[in-house]
Amino acid sequence: PPLIELRGIGKTYGSGTVALSGVDAQVREGGFVSLVGPSGCGKSTLLRIVAGLITPDTGHLSWPVSGARPADIGFVFQDPTLMPWARVVDNVWLPLKLRGMPKKEALPRIMDALVRVGLGDFANAFPRELSGGMKMRVSIARALVTEPPLLLMDEPFAALDEFTREKLDDDLLALWESQRFTAVFVTHSIYESVYLSERVLVMGARPRRILADIAIEAPYP
Ligand code: ADP
Ligand code: ADP
Repeated sequence: PPLIELRGIGKTYGSGTVALSGVDAQVREGGFVSLVGPSGCGKSTLLRIVAGLITPDTGHLSWPVSGARPADIGFVFQDPTLMPWARVVDNVWLPLKLRGMPKKEALPRIMDALVRVGLGDFANAFPRELSGGMKMRVSIARALVTEPPLLLMDEPFAALDEFTREKLDDDLLALWESQRFTAVFVTHSIYESVYLSERVLVMGARPRRILADIAIEAPYP
């Protein structure tokens, strides 16, 4: 069954910009879907609607799977947005802290998340001591530490060099294979979308909806 179903989603910003018009899409539970399209076609707007951060003007968004709610979503942005004054361990603790979990209780989960992203030895580092790729790994650990059913990623690796990006792509796939969250990955790289996902949704700038839904066979090396 689909985890997320979008029907006829439309969004016009106050300025009059039509960001989305009539978007239909489904994402299966446990799937890995990419959303690809030119800059400004509405990809971020669509992710924000799925996350419940903004409300569409038209259409319907449903979460047919019981227990899954927008509040449980993990989100990774292009900017890792780490707290610069806090150590890696405390950055990853944040979403558990916001749920009322004391650090001592959270620590095993924090360390597990850090080991999974390859940063087991960097728990006590400060963000400024880390490379761009490592900061992104912390951001992924922070998103996954709550074991969300859905991970939304908005051009997460776009600012990284190609080698770092390819390594992160592979490590993200390994995380997805072991942790089995549903993944929606926004990118403007067709190459990256085909490499990562089992389905590529192609968005157009005119009209601003999904123009193609492509199944990728055996995308994994
Ligand atoms: P993408 O992620 O594909 O680059 P966005 O969803 O960010 O596209 O933007 C879609 C369109 O909506 C663009 O024309 C953008 O300028 C406009 N837009 C995005 N956010 C806002 C906003 N908060 N207010 C007004 N216009 C916006
Ligand atoms: P990746 O994102 O694939 O981890 P990076 O280019 O971010 O690649 O870093 C490569 C490796 O170099 C890291 O895994 C880490 O071991 C090491 N490294 C990078 N920056 C630092 C740093 N500031 N302090 C210690 N080790 C670092």
